[in-house]
Amino acid sequence: MGIIVQKFGGTSVANAEKIRVAARRAIRAQQNGNQVVMVVSAMGHQTDHLVDLAKQITDDPSGREMDMLLSTGEQVSVALMAMAIHSLGAQAVSLTGAQIGIRTDSSHTKARIQSISTDRMKKLLDDGKIVIAAGFQGIDEDFNITTLGRGGSDTTAVALAAVLNADACEIYTDVDGVFTTDPRLVAEARKMDRVSHDEILELASLGAGVMHSRSIEFGKKFNVPIHVCNSQSFSDEPGTVIGSHSESADRAVSGAALTKNEAQITIVGVPDQPGVSYGVFSKLAGVNVAVDMIVQNAGADGSADISFTVLEDDLTKALQASKNAADELKAKGVEHDASLSKVSIVGLGMATQTGVADRMFRALSDEGINIEAITTSEIKVSVLVKRDQALAALRSVHGEFELDRAPKDRVKFGEKPTATRKADAADIVARLQRMEDLAIESVSLDEAQAQMTLFDVPDKPGISARIFEAVASEGILVDTIVQSIGRDGLADISFTVPRKSVKDAEKVMLSLSEELGGEVKVDPEVAILTVKGVGIRSHTGVGLRMFKALAEAKINVEMVSTSEIRVNVVVDAAKGAAGLAALKAAFADVLG
Ligand code: ASP
Ligand code: MG
Repeated sequence: MGIIVQKFGGTSVANAEKIRVAARRAIRAQQNGNQVVMVVSAMGHQTDHLVDLAKQITDDPSGREMDMLLSTGEQVSVALMAMAIHSLGAQAVSLTGAQIGIRTDSSHTKARIQSISTDRMKKLLDDGKIVIAAGFQGIDEDFNITTLGRGGSDTTAVALAAVLNADACEIYTDVDGVFTTDPRLVAEARKMDRVSHDEILELASLGAGVMHSRSIEFGKKFNVPIHVCNSQSFSDEPGTVIGSHSESADRAVSGAALTKNEAQITIVGVPDQPGVSYGVFSKLAGVNVAVDMIVQNAGADGSADISFTVLEDDLTKALQASKNAADELKAKGVEHDASLSKVSIVGLGMATQTGVADRMFRALSDEGINIEAITTSEIKVSVLVKRDQALAALRSVHGEFELDRAPKDRVKFGEKPTATRKADAADIVARLQRMEDLAIESVSLDEAQAQMTLFDVPDKPGISARIFEAVASEGILVDTIVQSIGRDGLADISFTVPRKSVKDAEKVMLSLSEELGGEVKVDPEVAILTVKGVGIRSHTGVGLRMFKALAEAKINVEMVSTSEIRVNVVVDAAKGAAGLAALKAAFADVLG
């Protein structure tokens, strides 16, 4: 008999009627021959209400007492859910996090799961009971109640599905599934039938906000297919499956996202030498600021500019830390722009197709939108644009890649995603011990790359489009792209190409510099070091560890490009092997 985990969010248990609807759904799943574990959130806005009550008492509640308070929300809903199931004539037992045996560390209000015992749940399921688990909570070594961070019930659900080796983890919520972009921003947004874990990881923190990112990390790590469905749909309309495949094998782009409130900081004129990136990002980590879209570009004069984005709310803290770093490194100065937004396209198919980035840049240029900075990963291209143009930018890329239209080759929802998980309990338990640890999938080296830079091109719409169209028309596959912030009306654009394409790429660059102005630099022998993994986003400090290891090995960082699931660093090809060794050592404890 298969196990199904069904998670009901706050809106899906907001009142007695909705609790009954959820209860019926679970009973139906049981009658269809499954063992059913429900994971339930607090009713409606109960958690917000509890947070508010605490605020009325004190500005600075202790974490332990906060968790004691917040965990009550879920305790109410599991009890009511059990009563609803009883009243419908089926058997059910509600359990708190402690009763299930969800052990966490002691970081109150953002605890991480360390282990889950399945014995009690399995016994209850074998006895024919529906198990109703309180989401979002656990217990530490000393029996203190802990919570997993806001939205943590998703994580509870996926974690239970993983340890129970469930057939499916169904997430019932108030939306129909995962959309190609936020439907509140773009009316043409379309519900996807399926989307890959990697795509949603890149999208989730980009503002799609469908599910708690950590729950997707779990899903990926333990290969749990996650079905996102609307709890109010009575027809059991299919939602979206988050699994190992993307919706279409043909399409380069699956979704687009907007992060509205970004600020960019640039440290101008730092010496281009080992340890500089580490110097900057250790200062930022020291004040707990998460950094995104790191763009570092060595300038023509032996100095480099390092820019990165932070959320606008963190700007004051981040600027102070940046100024400290700039003083220590004897940089020329610190600049910032607080009125930016980030627009990104994501797609597994991008990794193998040319001419994706340039299409995005062309679509933006057709709207007269200037690109302030670019970073790329294997499956994502992000650009910074002025905030007042962000919505137009999102709409134009959504249209350009025809995301409103279902792909022709889509896999039908009903087909079961192939589960590669094995029911090897010992293996899962062993992996569980480190379940929430940072999982670095791989540290890799590509030594056969070349770096092309065009310095001082005009910073205006259409320039990036022109450059990457010219490169794509020669059939040259571009990997990491970085465009630095424009200053004095000029910008620098760097990217890497396979070394075998360096002659062709150089020809294109020279003719581009005649056309657009600017100066070409070709670095025929560079290597790309890549750290790829799950949890890079929620574990700050991955970049920091990388920069530290490279600084200690005295390896200069020529260019950096970040995304949610990977950090790319370009170094001199002669230093590639040493860099790889340094990174492997630095991540040895978490390499899966
Ligand atoms: N009730 C908690 C919250 O509102 C956990 C959850 O709903 O996932 O954050
Ligand atoms: Mg919730």
